[in-house]
Amino acid sequence: MAGKEILQKGMIRRIEDGGSTNIWQDRWIPMHFDARPLTPRADQEIDLVSDLLTESGHWNEELIRESFIPVDARAILRLPVRQQGEDWWAWEPEKHGVYSVKSAYRKLATEHTQGDTLQPQASGDISWQRIWGLDVPPKVKVFWGRVLHEFLPAKAILHHRHIEPLAFCDLCGAEQETIKHVLMDCTVAKLFWHEVKALTGAKLPKMHTQFWASDILRPEFCTDKERGLFIIGMYALWSQRNQRRHGENVPPIRVAVNWAVDLAHDLWQITQEKKPVKPVTVRQNWRPPPSGWCKCNVDAAFDANAGQGATAVVLRSDDGSFGGGRARWYPH
Ligand SMILES: [Zn+2]
Repeated sequence: MAGKEILQKGMIRRIEDGGSTNIWQDRWIPMHFDARPLTPRADQEIDLVSDLLTESGHWNEELIRESFIPVDARAILRLPVRQQGEDWWAWEPEKHGVYSVKSAYRKLATEHTQGDTLQPQASGDISWQRIWGLDVPPKVKVFWGRVLHEFLPAKAILHHRHIEPLAFCDLCGAEQETIKHVLMDCTVAKLFWHEVKALTGAKLPKMHTQFWASDILRPEFCTDKERGLFIIGMYALWSQRNQRRHGENVPPIRVAVNWAVDLAHDLWQITQEKKPVKPVTVRQNWRPPPSGWCKCNVDAAFDANAGQGATAVVLRSDDGSFGGGRARWYPH
């Protein structure tokens, strides 16, 4: 990655008058996936952030809600508008404790023999192809790559690598805080999936205790729609686990469940819109003639093998009432 790119990755636009920030290209929504809207641009006319402001300098809530999917709209509307000059570049704020997570990654990375395994490989690794095809945000795809390669600082993994002295789960006291424990087996995770099932009917499938992270990518375990929801939900659970570990206030489970369900639903809708729609054959119903007219519908059938045929005539007036008709059979 070039130096400039690395720099830009950590930089974000601070919105003042919105006049020099591009909605679709610039990074400007902090803590929001790629800092850009997830909503596809499509043929929307809005271009600059200033297009989203009213003349009095507030967010045009109505326009924002109709132009963006709910998860984007909420993130934009949460942003303060200052209107004190031109937009400017700033370092993206980092959450508390992010450095300790980073140093844990670094330690893991140096011990990881394969080096950078977070890129899709050409070696026919089917899991990577499946991850890249998921209907989830890019950040969540990277997250699943890490889950698959056990490249996340769960305590049991850090303990195994002599980075953490103890391996137990801080939340429920289970002996080993593995990734699977955080995402599926911990009391919080169980509650989370219980709520998801109550809301959507989607139930986590039974998967192999060791190969569950690749099992969930396979079509025989769940539908595409459920898979998006499950993986986004697990991303939410992992984020909450990190927040909790860094002493931050963690929103109630229900908030996380709603977030995951809404996001998965929105993304599913977007991908469904993008997929070519099969032409629907509309059955043409009988339509009445202009007022004062009669309509005459005719049809004919002929069976070449039997040498027989039939014709039919129906007359109807403009209110659809039957005016007369005739069906005739031609035996040869
Ligand atoms: Zn636990």
